[in-house]
This record gives sequence, C-alpha cells and structure tokens, in this order.
Amino acid sequence: MDTTTWDVIVVGAGAAGLAAARLLQDAGLNVCILEARDRIGGRIWTTNDFADFPIELGAEFIHGERAATYGLISEAGLHAVEVDRKGGLFWSDGGKAIPCRQSCYETCFLIDKLFNAQRHLDDQSVAGGDRSLADYLRGSGFDRRALEIADVLLAQTCCASVETLSCADLIREIRVDHAGTREFRILEGYAPLLNWMAESLPLMLNSPVHKITWGDGVRVQTESHTYEAQQCIVTVPAALLQQNTIRFDPALSANKQHALAALRTEAATKLIYRFDTSYWDGAMTLLAHMGTVARWWTPAYGRPDGQPIISSYVTASRARAVDALSEPHALALGLRELERLLGVHNLEPHLIHARRVAWAADPYALGGYTHVPPGAADARLLLAASEGDTLFFAGEATAYDTNPQTVHGAIESGWRAARECLATVRTHG
Ligand SMILES: Cc1cc2nc3c(=O)[nH]c(=O)nc-3n(C[C@H](O)[C@H](O)[C@H](O)COP(=O)(O)OP(=O)(O)OC[C@H]3O[C@@H](n4cnc5c(N)ncnc54)[C@H](O)[C@@H]3O)c2cc1C
Repeated sequence: MDTTTWDVIVVGAGAAGLAAARLLQDAGLNVCILEARDRIGGRIWTTNDFADFPIELGAEFIHGERAATYGLISEAGLHAVEVDRKGGLFWSDGGKAIPCRQSCYETCFLIDKLFNAQRHLDDQSVAGGDRSLADYLRGSGFDRRALEIADVLLAQTCCASVETLSCADLIREIRVDHAGTREFRILEGYAPLLNWMAESLPLMLNSPVHKITWGDGVRVQTESHTYEAQQCIVTVPAALLQQNTIRFDPALSANKQHALAALRTEAATKLIYRFDTSYWDGAMTLLAHMGTVARWWTPAYGRPDGQPIISSYVTASRARAVDALSEPHALALGLRELERLLGVHNLEPHLIHARRVAWAADPYALGGYTHVPPGAADARLLLAASEGDTLFFAGEATAYDTNPQTVHGAIESGWRAARECLATVRTHG
C-alpha cells in the first residue's frame, strides 16, 4: 500500500472541504482533499443535461445577500438573480393555486404571522425547557391548519417536521444569523463556483476514506492508499459518521458520540419536469399546498432564455413517501398534484423530460441536511469541536456559529475548521 505525507488532509470535497482546503493552501500549507465520489460538490450537484441552462439537483438558492456564498460569486466572476419566493407565492387549499398576496388575504396573513412567530423566538419561548416548533406554535394559539402550513413553508425548508425542530436551535440560529433574508440563484449554476474554489487544489476523486487513525498526526486510509498528515479535517455528512462509514482509531470522544446520536438527517427529494411550454404564471416563484408534493418552483425564473421547467423539493415524511414509490410512480404522483395546482388537465403529453433525485438513496449523503430535535441544542457545537489538535470537523452540521443546512454555513464551517488547524500548527511551530 502506497503512503503519502501532507500537512493537512481534508476528507470530502463539498463546500466545506473546498473552503477549508483553499484557506489552508493560501496560508502555505501542503493540503490534499480525498473525495469518495467521481465529482466535487457533494450535496451541490449542477447538471447541464436537463435543459439549456444549469439545473440544480441539490442546493439551489443562496440564502442571504450577505451570505459568504454571495461574496464568493462576485470574486469568481459569476452572477446571481434574486428570487422573492414569499412575494411570488401561489397557494392552494385544494383547487387551482392562486397568488397569495393578491387573492388569498387570510392565508397570506396567517403565513406572515407564522413567519413572524418563528422569527421572534427567544429565550422566553423556551423558558420551560426546549420544545418543538409545533409545541411553541400551538402554545402561541395557532390551530391545526396553521401548523400544517408551517410544516410546508417553514419545516420543509429545514428538512424536518414542525414536530421535530428544536426551538432552542432555531433561537441559536436567529442569534448568529448574519446572512440576510434575500434569496438568489446563481445564473451559471453552483458548479462553476465550486470549480473555481477547487482550482489548483490537490484532489483525489474516487477515494472513499474508511479509516482514520489519529493522535500524534493522522493516518487516513482508503481502499488502496494510506495518507499521512499532521492534521485532518473531516467534512463528510453527519449521517455518514452516524453510520460509522469511517472507523476512527481511537474512537471519537463521548461528546462527539453524543452529538452524533442527537442530530437527525431526513430524506430530501427533488422531482424535476420539463414541458413543451410554460403552464404557469411567470410571476410565480413558489407554488405550495398541503399535499405530498407540497412545494414547487421554477428554476428558469429571471432568465429571459429559460425553458419551461418546474421543480418540486420535498423533505422529511413527504420525501420518504415519494422515495417509497418507483421513480415513474413518484413522477406520476407529482404530475397529478401539479395538474391540480395549475388547473391544467393531462400534462403528460406535454412532458419532455422528468427526473427524480432522492438524496436519502445517495450513499455519500444519506439524506438532505441535519436538523436538531428538541433537547439537543448543543449538538452542532459538540460536533464542531476538534479532537485534540489533530482531528477537526466541518460541514453544514457543524455550523453552530452561522446557518447550518446551507451552502454558506458549510463554507464558513470549513473556514472555521481551517483556522483552528492553523492556530495549532502555529502553536506547534
Ligand atoms: C436537495 C437539497 C437542496 C438543498 N438546497 C439548498 C439551497 O437551496 N441553499 C443552500 O444554501 N443549501 C441547500 N442545501 C444544503 C447544502 O447543499 C448543504 O448544506 C451543503 O452543500 C453541505 O456541504 P458540506 O460540505 O457540509 O457537505 P457535502 O456537500 O455533503 O460534502 C461532503 C463530501 O464528503 C464526501 N464524502 C462522504 N463520505 C466520504 C468518505 N468516506 N470519504 C471521502 N469523502 C466522502 C461526499 O461525497 C461529499 O462530496 C440543499 C441540500 C440538498 C440535499
């Protein structure tokens, strides 16, 4: 078995790993990234095969005008288009969806109240101990219908159910959020941003790591190779660490095990359809209802040349229901719900192409992204903590000081772990 020696090995070439490796390389360290897949990006996956413009099979939006991602896209020479999802929301209570702001005042008012209630969570909200968002909303007087709407519009985004989202973790996030509220898509797609981040980084693709021996330096093992380094940054999804896909010797600390046991990663699935022509209002940025395939949007929004593509993104129990079906059945279910929402009969003859992307079935993701259930609000901080001065952790799940569940949170976590590495390297020196 070959052995190669580096200053730092980064495991995983997603947003966190690339951000960490770039910072370390810029600081003059000899860095190597080991990536299990045959591509970089992880839960960012852009395809140019579905349409004449890039379609995001994973992460799609930049959440916030001050998000780290937003800053990087101008450095990379890329462009963003703003998407006001709430402003262009079309809602359906059963039949054809109507523009929420113009025609469904009551629901619109309720949605605003729900968003405000979530935004104004504070220590008082968990005075009696941490509780789920659902319990908090119930305690604030919201009825069952309101909770179902909150499940679609608030919890689905968090890859969770209202019943399993920790208020204490949401409060943590409100406190550290510095990204802003506006949302954008990258016109050129996320992939060029990651390619730019990966430029000149030593990268080993098709290299799943299965063992890390750590203590006095690290030995990182793949099937065919052992890499030695002073330090290692692990950025693989928490769901993979939970499944022990990487064996650590010695085992990770009790705190780390506690954090891993607490975090949850739910299913996350996209159903993407391309039609012969557009069957929806051009002003629509979000289409939602309380069905199974609950949320839809139009990736071509804001592009003059955009083809008629509509994409649904569901998580948690809705994604599990869609994943339980065969791909043709799942796509047929989505199409039936879409026909109802758009008030159009028999869209099938107009369908050019459709595709399901089920992240729970992806062996290097095992789901969407992490959420924290009630009572475990310290999990992200504990997962982020280093093990001694050799083993460091990054990735969206560890983004305790910014927005987890996001690309910018992953990037910032990579920078944080890289700075921790550098601090100990300097101490050694
Ligand atoms: C469907 C979907 C939609 C999303 N939408 C958005 C959105 O609109 N906006 C947003 O900001 N965020 C969104 N996210 C979340 C965002 O994609 C993630 O938070 C972010 O990309 C995570 O980056 P990461 O580096 O932490 O993890 P990953 O991207 O998962 O990177 C980890 C890397 O580790 C690799 N790996 C795994 N195991 C091993 C191993 N044993 N050895 C070596 N390598 C390994 C993986 O292949 C992967 O490349 C979405 C996620 C999904 C799934």
